[in-house]
Amino acid sequence: MDNATITRPTVLILLGPPGAGKGTQARMLEEDFGLVQLSTGDLLRAAVAAGTEAGQQAKAVMEAGGLVSDDIVLAILKDRMAEPDTARGVILDGFPRTAGQAEALDGLLDGAGMKVTSVISLEVDDAAMIARVAGRHTCAGCGEGYHDAFKLPATAGVCDRCGGTAFKRRADDNAETAGARLTAYHAQTAPLIAYYEGRGVLERIDAMDDIAAVRDSLSRIVQTVTR
Ligand code: ADP
Ligand code: ADP
Ligand code: ZN
Repeated sequence: MDNATITRPTVLILLGPPGAGKGTQARMLEEDFGLVQLSTGDLLRAAVAAGTEAGQQAKAVMEAGGLVSDDIVLAILKDRMAEPDTARGVILDGFPRTAGQAEALDGLLDGAGMKVTSVISLEVDDAAMIARVAGRHTCAGCGEGYHDAFKLPATAGVCDRCGGTAFKRRADDNAETAGARLTAYHAQTAPLIAYYEGRGVLERIDAMDDIAAVRDSLSRIVQTVTR
């Protein structure tokens, strides 16, 4: 194949505190751009539910609102990145969250002839973050995300996407744990904004806007960086 026709897979990183809207927007970007959402939070919750060794180690840390160790998170991420559906491109949602994870990601991508396409920082203030987390729930059937005040299904109690009527809330989405998660974000994850800014791949979005407006801003950026 002619080198000029080889396009590298897109690697987008959504950065932002808990409740910023990373999962909500990642699911819409999957639909709009054919990318695959890769949420380390979802992967860790699946490991906890399956009772794997990694899951057993992660459980208490997640319940307390701390960050799971880089070793565990990186092992889970590597396994997921090795699956063939990631070849077209991925949206990393909630990863990397520490400087160590960011460096390990560079190494992992380098080994696969890939690099970070763009890092989009979803910026929300701390009070909004607490309110978003407190009202969050998802459809138990299809995983569609909802919010008690900001995103309700068209028919009360019925999922727009799959018609399911059972919803679930995360154990760590309470005000106390949310505070710990926010502290972890500011101490360990927020410094990555400067790290990626220094590399010229950072974009910032005002994520205080409503879901549709944030989606528009994101789409414009993704269209530009994947062109
Ligand atoms: P994150 O993945 O960053 O933790 P989510 O995408 O799960 O965040 O969003 C947290 C909660 O806030 C969800 O209940 C979601 O429906 C709601 N939400 C997401 N984006 C917005 C927004 N722009 N405005 C208001 N509520 C939002
Ligand atoms: P949110 O976006 O609301 O913070 P996530 O689903 O991304 O929630 O993460 C839930 C929890 O899983 C985090 O509080 C943390 O304990 C753990 N976790 C998820 N991703 C990582 C990561 N990249 N590094 C360390 N811990 C993680
Ligand atoms: Zn559903």
